[in-house]
Amino acid sequence: MSQTTHILQQRNKPNLLSIVIPCYNEEEVIPLLRVELEKFISTLPCPVELVLVNDGSRDRTLLLLDAWAKQDQRLRLLGFARNFGHQTAVTAGLDVAKGDAVVIMDADLQDPPHVIHEMLARYCEGYDVVYGQREERAGETTFKKFTAWAFYRLMRKLVHPDLPVDAGDFRLVSRECLQALREMRETHRFLRGMVAWVGFAQTPVLYSRDPRAAGETKYPLRKMLAFAWTAALSFSPLPLRISLMLGVITAFLGFAVGLYAVVVGLIHYYLRDLGIPYNSGWASIMTVLCLVGGAILMGIGILGEYVARIYDEIKARPLYLVSYRRNLD
Ligand code: UDP
Ligand code: MG
Repeated sequence: MSQTTHILQQRNKPNLLSIVIPCYNEEEVIPLLRVELEKFISTLPCPVELVLVNDGSRDRTLLLLDAWAKQDQRLRLLGFARNFGHQTAVTAGLDVAKGDAVVIMDADLQDPPHVIHEMLARYCEGYDVVYGQREERAGETTFKKFTAWAFYRLMRKLVHPDLPVDAGDFRLVSRECLQALREMRETHRFLRGMVAWVGFAQTPVLYSRDPRAAGETKYPLRKMLAFAWTAALSFSPLPLRISLMLGVITAFLGFAVGLYAVVVGLIHYYLRDLGIPYNSGWASIMTVLCLVGGAILMGIGILGEYVARIYDEIKARPLYLVSYRRNLD
């Protein structure tokens, strides 16, 4: 698919690179992350700050991060007053990041740090957004491939045509893009979509996603579905249009069934003697009633989802509350 044309302007290495990492119940991972990052940072050609956001963990994550931050001034630590969710934790990290370029990555080392070298190279070429794109995994079933393909296609329709496929939140964004993102204070956040919406020159780097270093996923299926729902509803009125279309289809069906009922009734009245079986109508009335009732409720439900979101936005509450800071002014 063709993309918006941009003229790339070469850039120097960033004077400071920020790495934003949200952490929720990651006590098993933090020690591994620390070792891995300290090793990695020494290979980088520019100074680095680590922005770690504790998203209201219920385990020792905050204590471990605090101990680390005490020993390492490059680590800026932000502790949420409670769990606000992954996308919000990343948002908070982006809000305090001081770097000329900012990398978002997961705490669980599923996003291999060495990919950041390539991201920086693309950044220096002039790209504003460099997203990590998962390489196709060899062992995947056709079913898995098909569902992924269908999911991303649907998301592109719903969210933005420039939404990259097979990409999570692992990405580098430039200062310019970051500035734009910071101005978007919506409550229901789908950062990937927001980055696509902002625009700017974007390019992928391919990487293979490792399994989680330790611990288990903080994104069970329930949260994943809620996330996809947020993505769909926050970017597009398409679900409303679909419910409208369903309404139109149901109305047509209702009309057809009504017509049929009248015709059969007339035939029965005038041609009683031909022995055509006559439907008393109970079953057909029930069917149509259920169909129409269901369609109406569905339409109202979808409308309700949007109204609930308007309600959330209009309250204009702060996106997150910070109860702890270290190495931050
Ligand atoms: N995360 C978070 N808040 C949450 C859920 C997750 O900050 O409510 C963080 C988590 O600590 C991790 C990242 O988001 O650094 C991605 O989560 P996870 O690796 O569990 O998701 P998956 O890779 O399985 O999709
Ligand atoms: Mg993960």
